[in-house]
Amino acid sequence: MVQARTVQARAAVLRQTNAPMTIETIEVGPLAAADVLVRVRAASLCHTDLEAIEGQLPVKLPAVLGHEAAGEVVAVGEDVAHPGVGDRVVLSWNPHCGQCFYCERAQPILCAQYLANGPQAFHFDGKPRLSCDAVPVYQLMYLGGFSEYCVVPAQSAIRVPDAMPFDRAALLGCGVMTGVGAATRIAELRWGGVALVIGCGAVGLSAIQGCRLAGAGAIIACDPSPARRQLASALGATHAVAPDEAETVALARSLTAGRGADVVIEAAGAPAGFRLSLEAVRPGGQVVWLGKTGVGEQVGFRWGSLMQEKRITRSSYGGARPAQDFPLLARAYLDGRLNLDDMISARIGLEDINEGFAALKRGETVRSVIMLGGEA
Ligand SMILES: [Zn+2]
Ligand SMILES: [Zn+2]
Repeated sequence: MVQARTVQARAAVLRQTNAPMTIETIEVGPLAAADVLVRVRAASLCHTDLEAIEGQLPVKLPAVLGHEAAGEVVAVGEDVAHPGVGDRVVLSWNPHCGQCFYCERAQPILCAQYLANGPQAFHFDGKPRLSCDAVPVYQLMYLGGFSEYCVVPAQSAIRVPDAMPFDRAALLGCGVMTGVGAATRIAELRWGGVALVIGCGAVGLSAIQGCRLAGAGAIIACDPSPARRQLASALGATHAVAPDEAETVALARSLTAGRGADVVIEAAGAPAGFRLSLEAVRPGGQVVWLGKTGVGEQVGFRWGSLMQEKRITRSSYGGARPAQDFPLLARAYLDGRLNLDDMISARIGLEDINEGFAALKRGETVRSVIMLGGEA
């Protein structure tokens, strides 16, 4: 056991929504008994952070965002059995109490205590782990990856092989897990099945790879950007189309003797995408909605498109079981079965974070990764 301690770290602090984050020196720690101190080596920029920056996801301030990150464990609390000091870890954004109604039913993504606290809360014990000039600082999802160091619950730090580069490891924690998991954990795509993936951002491109890993016979990628369609094809899509409903439905049917896609994964977060998913799936097929639209937005459907025993699942984390899935995803990368290299659009410094989010919002990047403490 390594003594719990407090360290100083440079971090991007959000003090006001819709304003740039500021790079500040914060105090990190001390550790509680079930915490680990992680030296963050890479943290990528996700749309959920952007929602927090813009106020659509309410967070208490000041806060350190960042929930897609990897690093190394440098200290552990006295009750922590694993991970250990020196372990390379990927952070999971689903802290769970282990004791509530949902945790007891193996649905930790719905942990009642976590959801009651909100994603911006301090840890389960209600105590802050970060501070700046003696003022407590919140950590998005109990993580706060946009910092040189963070204190997280031990359960949220999942060990991956030492050979896993930090920048590519970071991607596993949110977007890749969500997309691959939608195909492998939720959709139950069968060998030879036909899948349609709507939206080719980080989550959609990961869903395409998940369909490929699951043995899909054909994968249709749907995105307005020719560059994204090209990337989708490089990552495993067998067909690529612009988001025209009639054309996409016709293509799905042409590949399935007129039935429609066996599985449709929506990762665009657009009302038109949700509608298309129901039109394009076959009777008895599976629809997985990963995308998000505004919480107050109305989404309409043609009633007939809902008929015929179609199954719809809305998922935030692709049915993730991080302790099992992160090492599997890392193994798939190291074996050359999961392409993470081409999903990184840019490697940037912490001081470039605001421009990085602006580029994400403009749709210019799949993933920008902040590199901390040297190269991968
Ligand atoms: Zn719980
Ligand atoms: Zn995310």
